[in-house]
Amino acid sequence: MQLTVIGGGLMGSGIGQVAAQAGFKVTIIDVSEASLEKAKNRISDSVVKLAQKNRINNPEEVLSNITFSSQWESVSHADVIIEAVPERMDFKKETFKKIDQLAKDSCLLATNTSSLSITEIASVTSRPEKVIGMHFFSPVPLMPLLEIVKGYKTSAETTEFARVVGEKLGKRMITAEKDFPGFLMNRIWLPMVNEACFAVMEGVGTPEEIDQGFIDGYGHAMGPLKTIDMAGIDTALWAMEAIYEGFNDSKYRPCPLLKKMVEAGDLGKKTGRGFYSYN
Ligand code: NAD
Repeated sequence: MQLTVIGGGLMGSGIGQVAAQAGFKVTIIDVSEASLEKAKNRISDSVVKLAQKNRINNPEEVLSNITFSSQWESVSHADVIIEAVPERMDFKKETFKKIDQLAKDSCLLATNTSSLSITEIASVTSRPEKVIGMHFFSPVPLMPLLEIVKGYKTSAETTEFARVVGEKLGKRMITAEKDFPGFLMNRIWLPMVNEACFAVMEGVGTPEEIDQGFIDGYGHAMGPLKTIDMAGIDTALWAMEAIYEGFNDSKYRPCPLLKKMVEAGDLGKKTGRGFYSYN
């Protein structure tokens, strides 16, 4: 089966890698040559590490299953397309309009959005029943969860197809039956992270103390502020804004500190600085 990922950043490269490990023929498309180069390096490093840990035994074959491209040819013969461009509705709509013009009728059209409306993204296509949310978790090669999100017009066949793909990718799945902002996971998790940002902004505690508290007190593998440093402060802010605007409820207002950090370019690990510094 042919699987095309659009957007080869943190998530797109992880999704492409997992699909290649599962035997799909994968193409990762990105507008930026630098992102494609980074994706290539990130995937080869990860595959080598997994092979050293005996979690995969065919690293060369996995890498040979992936093509990196700035061109869209693969879209017309893909069986599955997973979009992972930045968390902005205008980017998502532009991408899905283009996909709709090129993809074959039988193709599954999935978005990896963390919080935006699947229904609104699907509305720019001529086949909203074929559009679904497939929300992966970072780092995709290590996190078992896949959240399936049904849009307002997503058909039962499309949901079943997405579940079959998720199964092949080796993921454990949960389903958000309705397309409300933040779906199941981020609707609950992001407001908690946002509250941690308020606690830092108000000087109640440091990121180190908060993260340590979550590790030692709640048994989390990583604290909330370190986690959004890894995910990207910009991605977290955009997702929080989408939840706030989607429910039109002040309890979801994004913390001003998140906005300041994005304005300052402190986007987390990818820019070398977020709540922590990275070399
Ligand atoms: P990212 O910034 O790491 O990657 C986005 C990539 O898309 C970049 O490489 C960029 O060059 C590329 N891009 C931009 N416009 C494009 C276009 N028109 N066509 C093709 N490529 C384009 O972002 P990310 O963290 O990988 O997030 C991508 C999506 O995944 C977002 O919707 C985000 O909400 C979602 N998501 C992120 C996480 C996370 O932890 N970061 C987790 C789950 C879901």
